[in-house]
Order: sequence, then structure tokens, then C-alpha cells
Amino acid sequence: MMRQYELVERVTKYDPDADEDLLNRAYVYAMKAHGNQTRASGEAYFNHPLEVAAILTEMKLDSATIAAALLHDTVEDTEATHQEIEEKFGKEIAALVDGLTKIAKLDLVTKEAAQAENLRKLLLAMSKDVRVLLVKLADRLHNMRTLEHVKPDKRVRIAQETMDIYAPLAGRMGMQAVRDELEDIAFQVLNPDGNKIINDRLAKLHAESGGILKSIEAELTQKLAENGIKAEVTGREKRSYSIFRKMERKLLSLGQLSDIFGFRVIVGTVDQCYRALGIIHRTYRAVPGRFKDYISTPKQNDYRSIHTTVIGPHHMRVEMQIRTRLMHEIAERGVAAHAIYKDAPDAKEALDGFRAPAAESNAYRWLRHLVEMLQEGESPREFLEHTKLELFHDQVFCFTPKGKLIALPKGATPIDFAYAVHTSVGDSCVGAKVNGNHAPLVTELQNGDEVDIIRSEAQTPPAAWEGLAVTGKARAAIRKATRAAARKQFAGLGREIIEKMLAKLGKTYVEKEVTTAIPRLGHKNTDDALAAIGKGELSAIDVMKAMGLTIDDTKLKELRRRTPARKADGDELSIPVRGVSRTTALRISPDTGAVPGERIVGILMPGAGITIYPIFAKALEQFDNQPERWVDLAWDTGAEEQRYPARIKVSILNEVGSLAQVAQVISDQGGNIDALQMVAREGARDFFDLDIMLEVHDLKHLNEIMAGLKSRSAVSDVTRKTG
Ligand code: MN
Repeated sequence: MMRQYELVERVTKYDPDADEDLLNRAYVYAMKAHGNQTRASGEAYFNHPLEVAAILTEMKLDSATIAAALLHDTVEDTEATHQEIEEKFGKEIAALVDGLTKIAKLDLVTKEAAQAENLRKLLLAMSKDVRVLLVKLADRLHNMRTLEHVKPDKRVRIAQETMDIYAPLAGRMGMQAVRDELEDIAFQVLNPDGNKIINDRLAKLHAESGGILKSIEAELTQKLAENGIKAEVTGREKRSYSIFRKMERKLLSLGQLSDIFGFRVIVGTVDQCYRALGIIHRTYRAVPGRFKDYISTPKQNDYRSIHTTVIGPHHMRVEMQIRTRLMHEIAERGVAAHAIYKDAPDAKEALDGFRAPAAESNAYRWLRHLVEMLQEGESPREFLEHTKLELFHDQVFCFTPKGKLIALPKGATPIDFAYAVHTSVGDSCVGAKVNGNHAPLVTELQNGDEVDIIRSEAQTPPAAWEGLAVTGKARAAIRKATRAAARKQFAGLGREIIEKMLAKLGKTYVEKEVTTAIPRLGHKNTDDALAAIGKGELSAIDVMKAMGLTIDDTKLKELRRRTPARKADGDELSIPVRGVSRTTALRISPDTGAVPGERIVGILMPGAGITIYPIFAKALEQFDNQPERWVDLAWDTGAEEQRYPARIKVSILNEVGSLAQVAQVISDQGGNIDALQMVAREGARDFFDLDIMLEVHDLKHLNEIMAGLKSRSAVSDVTRKTG
């Protein structure tokens, strides 16, 4: 374990003005607070915050950060309180520790909306002070270094979270060294086989190429020195994870991978970078298309360097990265490097004349900007552009008009979005605007889309939506809503059935009386019982008996009278039939169709509500001995322009143009053909039959069409199908 004075020495070495007293007090306080606690490895717990602090000294961070690192687990894991930390160490350090405590237990692996929310919390905590992020990354790095002591399943989760969130975050902050190490350890855990194969191959190459790294280093240093450039050249093998990624990206086999050696050429000034590049290109043949100048155009995370690939000694492809010392520091340490250089009076000079980082680095500005947007909820697309990218791949992030982030799986539609916002929003969704334009509900949402759900309280989600939704939440909610809507329709129908029956007995329907009968009928509540009547699962006569009504035999016969009401329209004792297509409880028999103006009856179909038949339907015969299933119905179409189905049979001459004549007559008369089938007539080769499902307004309309058809020369006969 590192001694107290060793830690302080490390800090004072790069920061002579460091607050030694603060460091000493934090060291002692944390050591006492963690007391006898041990880690999974069995070592003293205090070793962990101490190592985290040590990692941060490598980044040359200020005393406050080092102190916060020592204290980072005290509030979370010991008796220490925020208040005590503030009293003993002041507001600045207390705030840092508080940020770390808040994010200590965030689970960023679950692939749920919670992940986005947790990421938001993480970014919020870090944005208050970038040093929170630095300590958190150092904390994660040490946990990764000691991961072997953790139980296997937990190990995989931590490795996954590191690979998904912390490594990309370190990369985005420009901390390449931390990112590399995090990725390498995570890769070992997540893909041990892949890791082993690559390492074996690297070892073999290493043995084959012998001292190639050293010889190239020496040769390059020599060449540059001859041209008056003092350079530090270091060769290295690429890391197994970066090789793996390249293989994956370019679908290469290990044997095909050529440039697994890389060299860093560190020189004094920007000018020397370009001169060194010239010398390297004169000495070795450059590989076309591999030159990149990140000095004139730095990466978003402040990375600056010149990259080129050349065919070096032994005909091996090697990648060169040419940069100044300061660029190197920033490349390795990113935001952490800025944490010191921003205050240095000679920072501008040190940066060699090119764009000096202002008070804050690009990376930190990115983080802050991100969080400003999170807080203000504006410009969601920009927010996304910056975040999702490196951090998530199988999710899309969309926004409400107010800027609330909604994370959805890829392939999600506005329906999923609506249900993710709230079940009531999904249930009342009738349309959507995506980025301000009306969009179909089947639209696949893209990252950054702003989705505005158009709602109507009259809406019930159609059952077919279940197929359009990809989230379980939306599907379950749609199923529930369609079930509830169907139940409501059945209950309404059941109520009408019992009302009419009571009316025939000269009684009025009183819901309470039905309610009292419910327990005897084995139903939970009135609506359930009424729905059962509507569905045909429960006989209305049984309900009336359960209500205590005594019905004598003649009355019963009367009730069971299966002859439908005399008047076809508007019989007050019949159940009115309106827009049939939208209700589940009532359906028209597809064998015949039925149109307003013709006499109809309903047959209770257990579990499916009522099927409507025209009185001439053949199918009715089979219900002759089940009078309790017959329901009186009457059309009540009102002023609404609706269409109803009618099935007809048209016999036509088997000649060119016959079919066209039929279609012409129907369309001229304003009818629609919903379905049409040709049926060959046995033994009559000159004729064939058409089985047509028409959509018409009413009986008059149907008769006009049938008369029109009969008048055509090609048509020999037109009849109504009876089933
Ligand atoms: Mn920790």
C-alpha cells in the first residue's frame, strides 16, 4: 500500500503549490472511515481509493481532485456523511464527493429506457465539475484492473458497462490511454477466445520479426537527427482489442492484417512535425490514402497528430503518428491534460502557436454543452449527434416536443413512442408528426427525431397496431385496450338485449337490480355479466330469473318468439344496428351480407357477439330449435353515409368483355366491389358465375345495381346469395 508521504510527494512533484495538509487529512480520514473493510480480493478496502488517487496523480491533477478520489467511496460505503465531509474539507470537495456518490450505483447495462435516464444522471453529475468524471474514470480503471477478484457474472456486467459507456466516454474526453486500458481489460473478459487468438498471433509475429521494432526505432531516430530533428521514436504493437475491431470492421482475417506495428514520433514543434513527415515519406514508401492531418484539423476531442502509413523495413506496413510533446500529453490524457494547462501562464506558448485551448477544452465544452441541452431541453437533435453515437448502437433516441428524451429500440414506430411517453398517450394516439411533418404511424423512427403525438380522446387503439409496435410495453397496452374496448361494446349490447326483454315484460331496466343478481351468476361485476350476455355466453332469461323475476310459460314463449319484429325499421323493441364495421360485438354474416332496408335478425354466437343475417339466410335454419339465441334487430342508419355488404351471384356469358361490363355497371351505379370470385359452371361452358361481395348504401341502392346488371346483354341472371 502506498504510504501517505509517497502520495503527497507524487503530487508536489508536478504541483509544488499543492495543498499538502488537505491531502494528508483526506488520506487519514478515508483510511479511518473504511476501517476494517476489505475488497473482494481480501486486501484492505482503503487500498482502492488510494490507487484511484494514484492514477489521478499520473494525470497530474490538482489536490482537490486527489482528495476527492481518496474520499470518493466514504459517503456511499461508510458512516461518513455529506455534511461531515463539507465541514472537514469544504464545499468544493464535498460537491465532488457528492457527485461521485450519486453515480456510484448507476446501472448502465440494462437495455431499457432506464439506461438513458441513468446516462443522463451520469452526465449531469459529471458536468457540474469535469473532475467528477476524471475520478469516476480512475475509479472504473482500478476496478477493471482488479476485476479478476469479482464473481464471474458480475465481472461480465462490469466489463460490458465499461465497454459500452466508460471506454467511449474516456475516448470522447480525449483520454486515449484510459480508454485503451479499459477496452483491453473489458475485451479480455467479454471475448476471452478472441483475445487469446489475437495475442497468440501477436506473440508469433513478435518472435518472427525479432528486433524489428528496435531496428526501426533506431533507423528513424537516426534519419531525423541527420536532418536536424531531435525526435523520440517509440514503436509498439497495436493492442489486441484495436486489432479485433479492425478485423471486425474490415472483415479481415488475422493473416490479412498488415499494420499491427505503430510508431510514435514525438518532436518539439509543429513545424518539426511536418518536416519529420517529409523525411519519413522520402525514406519509406507511403501507403496511399492513409495520410491524415489532425494538426490542421483536430478531432472533436482535441486530438492532434499527423498519421501516415508507410512500407517500412522488411516490407512491413507500419503506422506513424507524428506529434509534439504537448499534443502527445493531450492525446493520452485529454480533458485531464487541460485541467493543468488551462491555468498555466505559458499555456499559449506551450501549445506552439496553434489554437490554444481557451479556459476549457473542446471535450469539456462538449460535456457541458450536452448537459445544458439536457437541462434546457432544447435542440434535441444536436444533443443526440453528440451522445448516442459512441455510446449506443441498438437504440434510437427521440424527443417529445418539450425535449424529453425517449429511448426506444431500433425499428420503433410513433406508436411505440406514444406508449413510451405514457399509456394514455398511446391509447389516444391517432397520428404523429415527426420533425414537424405528418408521418404515417408505421414510420421507423430515427435518432434525434422529434415526435409529436396527435391525440383524440375518442380513440381506441386498433388491434392491428399490435403488429406495428416493437416494444413489449406498447403491445401489451394495445392488447389491453382492444380487449377493454371490445368488452365495452359487448357490455353495451348485453345491456340493450336485457333492456328490450324487460320492456317486453312491461318492466324498466334498473342497473342496480342486475348488479344484485351478479354473484348468483358467477360474474365479478355488472359489466362482466352484461358483456357475457352480449357475447352470448349468458342467457338474458337466466339473468332475469336471477334478478328474481318470475316469468310464466306463456311469457317465456313470448320472449323466445323467434319471429323478428314486424316493422323492419325502428321497432322500439329491437336493438338498433348502426355502423357495423367498427364494432366487434356485431358482425354481418359474410355468406350473405345484409343491407339497410331488408329485414334482419341477430344470432348470439357464444364468445363472438351477434351475427346479423338477412331473414332469408339459409344459415338461420340451424338455429330454429335454439330460440334463446335469437335477437331482434332493426336498422338505425341515420344520416350517416355508410356502406354495407351484400353478396350476389351474377351469371355471365363466357366472352370477351363480359366481366368489364359487370364492373362498369357496378361502378356507374356507385357501388364498390369488395371481393370477386369466378366460379366455373359445371356442364355449361358458355356461362360462368361471378360471386361478388358488393358494398352498397341500402336495399334500394342494391336493387338498382342488380337491375342495371340484368339489363346488360352479357348478363344472363343476377341473384342474391342466401348463404
Ligand atoms: Mn470506488
